[in-house]
Amino acid sequence: MEALGECIELRREREGATIASEDFAVWWAGGRHELEERRALENYFFNDPEFDDAVHPSCMSYKQRYEHALTKGTKFLAKLREWQRSRRAQQPKGKEEHELEGAEDSVNIKLLYDYRMLLSGPVGTALFQQSFPLRLHFSMFLPTLLSQGNAEQQRRWVGRAWRLDGIVGTYAQTELGHGSYIRGLETRADYDAEREQFVLNTPTLSAYKWWPGGLGQTANMVVVLAQLYIRGKHHGLQQFLVRIRDEQTHEPLPGIDVGDIGPKLGANGVNNGFLGFRNVRIPRDQMLMKNAQVLADGRFVQAAQPLLVYGTMVFVRVMIVRDVMFGLLQAATIATRYSLVRRQSPIEPNAPEPQILDHVTQQAKILPQIARGICYRLAADVLWAIYQRVMQQLEAAGPNNSNGGRELPELHALSCCLKAVCTEGAAEGIDVLRKACGGHGYMSSANFDSIQGLASAAFTYEGEHTVLLLQTARFLLRQHLDALKRKVLPASVTYLRNASPLSWSDNLLENVARALEISAAAQLREAWQWQQEQRQHGKHTEQQANNLSGRRLTAAATLHGHAYLARNAIKQLEQLRRNVQPALYELLQQLVELFVLHTFLRQLGAVLKWNRNGISSKQLQQLEQRYEQLLGALRPNALALVDGFDFHDRVLGSTLGCWDGRVYERLMAEARRNPLNQEAVNSSYHTHLQPLFRCKL
Ligand SMILES: Cc1cc2nc3c(=O)[nH]c(=O)nc-3n(C[C@H](O)[C@H](O)[C@H](O)COP(=O)(O)OP(=O)(O)OC[C@H]3O[C@@H](n4cnc5c(N)ncnc54)[C@H](O)[C@@H]3O)c2cc1C
Repeated sequence: MEALGECIELRREREGATIASEDFAVWWAGGRHELEERRALENYFFNDPEFDDAVHPSCMSYKQRYEHALTKGTKFLAKLREWQRSRRAQQPKGKEEHELEGAEDSVNIKLLYDYRMLLSGPVGTALFQQSFPLRLHFSMFLPTLLSQGNAEQQRRWVGRAWRLDGIVGTYAQTELGHGSYIRGLETRADYDAEREQFVLNTPTLSAYKWWPGGLGQTANMVVVLAQLYIRGKHHGLQQFLVRIRDEQTHEPLPGIDVGDIGPKLGANGVNNGFLGFRNVRIPRDQMLMKNAQVLADGRFVQAAQPLLVYGTMVFVRVMIVRDVMFGLLQAATIATRYSLVRRQSPIEPNAPEPQILDHVTQQAKILPQIARGICYRLAADVLWAIYQRVMQQLEAAGPNNSNGGRELPELHALSCCLKAVCTEGAAEGIDVLRKACGGHGYMSSANFDSIQGLASAAFTYEGEHTVLLLQTARFLLRQHLDALKRKVLPASVTYLRNASPLSWSDNLLENVARALEISAAAQLREAWQWQQEQRQHGKHTEQQANNLSGRRLTAAATLHGHAYLARNAIKQLEQLRRNVQPALYELLQQLVELFVLHTFLRQLGAVLKWNRNGISSKQLQQLEQRYEQLLGALRPNALALVDGFDFHDRVLGSTLGCWDGRVYERLMAEARRNPLNQEAVNSSYHTHLQPLFRCKL
């Protein structure tokens, strides 16, 4: 579209803001250098016409979309490596943070994290609004090789995989018949000691692998989760590295039945696939053997503490919290800019129509989502720091030493809980933001469909929502029992030891955070008591009692997640006081407060249930007043704030959300670009509509 410059509404908003969006952008990016680097990387890609889409991807067929995503994906990876090489060459000798040449010992989990952040961060999102088929190679396949392969296997495979040297991989766990209950997986790997090989089979239709990203037409190797049998004896689930397509021709290898599972609600660039095995043989050294081994003669050796098995899962969940935060803030930026351009319905009779963000109800839809995204980010940063610390402890202690894993149960529970609560919150928030844009929000060119599609997928994959909450609840129950015994508790659950009721003080944030913690602790206690009752009086087994308590347990885990997010945001704010300028600090303070109050109001039913005598209606009224005051206080900086996320227009991919606010021009331009509008009369008129007119029903 021809550049018309910034529209008048957005210009006035920018002039009237009390903070400089650039200051916010520097903080958000983690520093001036980081911000400039990211912008330079974006320019490097976005100024290259090879990455422009001639047709909006929503107008492509499913097959075209795959071919388009793969074409762009391969160019993207090649260009990204070029960029990294040139950046490394510019660095003073010895200052390289990572050796990117692909030597197997230089590809580490931090490198993969950074790389994965590039793929799902601004540039990756801009180029692939519905993701792309090579993503799983970096987000699951390589991390699994690193965390589950022994030293020899890493030497053999990791460097090649990093360089895409004849290897594109994915991670195949889920089957047609089983996802959450992984012990129910049916794929078999039988060890043949004579030939020192495993034989893989898909015994039933429900044993077909189903879902792995990139599996359909892209991957030529997979990490497969299968039930191991040695001389007919079962040895649990193990991971196997299997080549499924010929390295040269890409033809499926003998015994391999592979294909794409078809279009989905979203994430349609991913090429999710199905996979079956018929007597597929792989050498013994292709079982990933960091934690368990099969010796040549068929002896099975299990590591004493297979703690590192959790590593990949936790790693991916940490990244998912960041992914959905990113999607939520993309959506919030689009809705904010649109709400400042769109005018509707005078507030005073005979007054001009206001920008819709001046309707307080619109502020209440949009501003809390911005606050939420920022507080999710504060939690994701903490989670990543804990993850790195725990993994270092584990590596230092070695696989057979349980001491190194002291913090692992807490990390595991926290990553389950935050993944569940944040994906749900983000998916809900994106939907609120889409609806806040009225009819135009429903256009594919507004891009809420792609953003929502990715967040909704994250709600389910890498641990289904309810299942993760139940896992969190199991951890919380153990902590509850430890609290009764006055034991020292992990940091995230110390509140379980505090039995004092809510005492409302002048510190509103503290009151609210404490009310959420009391609710979580009380809900947990009630779930536990109910469980005990089901066992003692209802004569149910432990498992039946767990099932009967499921609703109460998931409610406790959800409340724990909200309480943690609120408490963490308050704590991080304290740290920020020392690190940011006063104007920015004031803005962040308002945002954290809005988030905490919003969380409280959304959980009001549970909070009132568990703090019956602690909160009066007058206190609630004061709280609501403060909430509305905050909306009003944030309103003048709404645009400066979302500008500060520094999303390039390409990253938002939205006719409604561009920096210049030229919403109507863009909607019309995108409609005109639609392939249906490339001819005045469509051929189906002559073949179908005209004959119908002629026969006159
Ligand atoms: C976009 C996308 C990408 C994916 N990518 C991959 C991939 O790359 N590799 C891969 O292996 N898999 C992948 N998956 C699969 C994903 O990991 C599974 O879908 C997920 O683990 C959930 O399993 P399921 O589909 O079998 O759901 P189910 O487990 O069948 O869940 C259905 C319902 O049953 C409930 N339920 C299940 N168990 C319990 C329980 N114990 N207690 C209470 N309720 C329960 C759930 O809460 C849910 O409401 C992907 C999925 C999606 C949507």
